Amino acid sequence: MLDYSGQQAVITSSSNQDIKRLRSLHERKYRKQTGWFLAEGLRICTEALQHGFAPMRLLYEEGRKTDPLISDLITACKKAGGRALPVTRALLVKVSNKDNPQTVIGAYRQFATNLAEIKKTDVRCWVALDRIRDPGNLGTIIRTIDAVAADGVILIDDCTDPFSVESVRASMGAIFSLKVSHCTSEEFIAFKRKLEGTLIGTALQSKVDYRIAEWRAPCIILMGNEQAGLPKKLREACDQIIAMPMHGRSDSLNLAVATGICLYEFLRHQND
Ligand code: SAM
Repeated sequence: MLDYSGQQAVITSSSNQDIKRLRSLHERKYRKQTGWFLAEGLRICTEALQHGFAPMRLLYEEGRKTDPLISDLITACKKAGGRALPVTRALLVKVSNKDNPQTVIGAYRQFATNLAEIKKTDVRCWVALDRIRDPGNLGTIIRTIDAVAADGVILIDDCTDPFSVESVRASMGAIFSLKVSHCTSEEFIAFKRKLEGTLIGTALQSKVDYRIAEWRAPCIILMGNEQAGLPKKLREACDQIIAMPMHGRSDSLNLAVATGICLYEFLRHQND
């Protein structure tokens, strides 16, 4: 709504339709229905823009319209057919569910790469995750994939949502810089058969030390579910199965930590 001077009026009420819609994006059901997701913070929204993603809705703190980065986001949002809305700080708190919210929150269209569209030549290093449950782990893994400039993440079977607020927060915006693909384990196994590269699985039971694996590109690093590890059918599809040695009392590493170790081992071998 515009005020008397033709400016976008500051939204102050949580019963505003846009505010209600954006708040609902905390729930997977509404993310599915709308195909949108939330990203919070000027740094993340600016990075998204640098990767070609403009927000469909942009909430920004009242009075900050002329800040250069916010002004760029407002322009991009409008150009993409979206709406940029000034709101009170109290409403930013409500939409982000955080006491100390960022100055901007963007709602973006979700994106995905169909596994069938991934060409052999596009594969340098992907991470495939079997039924990952924890959004913090997923966001951390996405951030680490970006850190080593790997290609993307393949989510196998029923995984946590990469577009949840928790996962996007943990990814620190890296979700915008890599490819995300969803598939069933059968589709993944069929994709692997056509791939001219190595599928490196990880399992605690393996006697093969991760340092002696063939870390050549192209490769896919396959990680198991937090509780159950990799099922037999996925283990059987692997060219190699490796383990990080456990010298202390814990029997396994956190999934995101284990993925990070593999990704950096891959990177180390590319620099050999
Ligand atoms: N209870 C599960 C099991 O027995 O496989 C443990 C799962 S572990 C927390 C989750 C995933 O992290 C594993 O499936 C594997 O992909 C990876 N992982 C964790 N620690 C590992 C290690 N020491 N060696 C290889 N993979 C590991």
